[in-house]
Parts: sequence; C-alpha cells; structure tokens
Amino acid sequence: MNLVALKCPHCARELPSAPERRIFVCDECSRTWRLDSIARALELVPRRILNPVRPLPPAGRIVLVPFWCMTVPEETIRSSGNRLPSEMRIPAIGLQRSALLLRWAEQLSRVRDPLGESTPWRKLESTPGPAPEPAEIAAEDAYDLAELLALQMVKGWPPEAELENWEIPFSSLELVDWPCVHRRGELEELIFGRATADALVGDRVLADQRYRIQSLESVGA
Ligand SMILES: [Zn+2]
Repeated sequence: MNLVALKCPHCARELPSAPERRIFVCDECSRTWRLDSIARALELVPRRILNPVRPLPPAGRIVLVPFWCMTVPEETIRSSGNRLPSEMRIPAIGLQRSALLLRWAEQLSRVRDPLGESTPWRKLESTPGPAPEPAEIAAEDAYDLAELLALQMVKGWPPEAELENWEIPFSSLELVDWPCVHRRGELEELIFGRATADALVGDRVLADQRYRIQSLESVGA
C-alpha cells in the first residue's frame, strides 16, 4: 500500500488518507478509486446508474440523485445484535437539511433488499443525457453520516467505553446515481418507492434525466 502514491490519477489532487480503507474518492472530480488486487495501482470504480425497478411515472421530472452506498461488515452487524442493515445508503446532496437527509437515508438503508445483486446497473459514461448531479457530500463525510445513522438506529450500542475510538470499517463504498421522480413537493425514489420532501434539495433544480433513463430501458436489463 505504501508503494502507491495516493493522488487522483485523473486530476492529481491528493486523495484523503484512510489507512483502514481501500476505496478513495477525489474531492476535486468525485472519481472513486480502489487499490487493485496486488495493491500497486489505483483503478477507477465506475460511477453507476441504477435502473429504476418501478415504472417511470408519466408526470414529473425524472432526476438522478447521487447516493453513497457502503457495505456494513458482517462482524459489525453481528456485534450490533443483527440490528444494523447490511448496506447504508446516504444521499450525497442535501447536507443543509441533515434531518431530512438522515431520515431518507434510514428509510432506504432499512430496506433489506441488496442493491448490488438484483438491481441492474449501467455505466453512466455509456448512456447519453445531461451530466449527473455532483455529489456535495464527500466520501469521508458520508462515512461519518453513516456512523451517526448507525448510532441512531441501534440504541445502546456500542458500549460507551468503546465510543471514543469507534468506527465502522465499511468494506466498500460506491457513488451511485439513484433514479427518482420529482413531483408535488416530493422526491420519490424509483427502486423501493420511498419518498422525502423536496426541501432536501432546496432551490436546486435537478436535471431532467427522463430521456437517459428511457434509453437505459431500451437497452434492457
Ligand atoms: Zn480527481
């Protein structure tokens, strides 16, 4: 690991160091990197777009909300008495409205279905359409929010004596683009059907990605 210069191979910005983790995200260009199997080089983790599971509603703006998804290690789940979900899903926008953000993150993280296996993915680069929304929450902040959420979800854990140095060694981290419909003051995601108030994104206008999503569907799962 020491053999690798931890600089973003795309824009040369220094990557945040996190010795216990093997995934690094550039604060400058949001690209995600991981150490290859022999830990000699950084390879790109593609930013991926989730295919909606639910049909696209005819009305409303179809938008892509960036999310950080991270896997909770089995050992941590066991130590929580199996009260933690296997995956934490943190919206990467809406930091100014952290109560809304954490509520939506909790709803989505509590859904037991995994995202990786059953949900079809597409590489974002391969589909036409407007640029994805930039993530305004950096990877390190997403880890912190996920740990905060874990503490809220499981009361009385971990023991107080461990809290000071407590950290969940999340085993993977990925920035995904989550399809949602924006209508009637709500953002409703199109995988599990959980909605939040659109105050989450404030005045920000998210790009309409209906055409892009439709072109994904025409490619098929
Ligand atoms: Zn970069």
